[in-house]
Amino acid sequence: MSKKLQTIAQSKNFKAINAGPWTEIAQYVTGPFQGKVFLKEALAATGTEISFASMPEGASVPFFHTHKENEEVYIVLQGRGQMQIDEEVFDIQEGSVVRVSPKGVRNIKAGKGGMVFMCIQVKSGSLREWTGDDGLPAEAQAAWK
Ligand code: ZN
Repeated sequence: MSKKLQTIAQSKNFKAINAGPWTEIAQYVTGPFQGKVFLKEALAATGTEISFASMPEGASVPFFHTHKENEEVYIVLQGRGQMQIDEEVFDIQEGSVVRVSPKGVRNIKAGKGGMVFMCIQVKSGSLREWTGDDGLPAEAQAAWK
């Protein structure tokens, strides 16, 4: 039986879920392989597709793939492994962050002890404002309840 994402809170301007702990990501059976869970629908997200994945030692995604329009950012949360992008193979570990352009032919493989990673998909070239350019102070309308 698949682990289920837990809704923590929601209102008109947000939705909060809990996908963890990382040690239980392997229990999701909702993606293209056991241990992969996508969050877009659970979060009602409109600009990103975020997923978590847990792979046992030696496992890789069962296919190499590219994307039509989305770049991906892979963030290793636990463990270590390797990525192959086009002709390049390199080691990754907890804290490694890898951005892949849509046309990069990619795969990811878990190393010794397995690996838990997060993947963020977003339309390539879509970011127009960021950090301080897009944030607006809201102190006049808000304080901790
Ligand atoms: Zn992908």
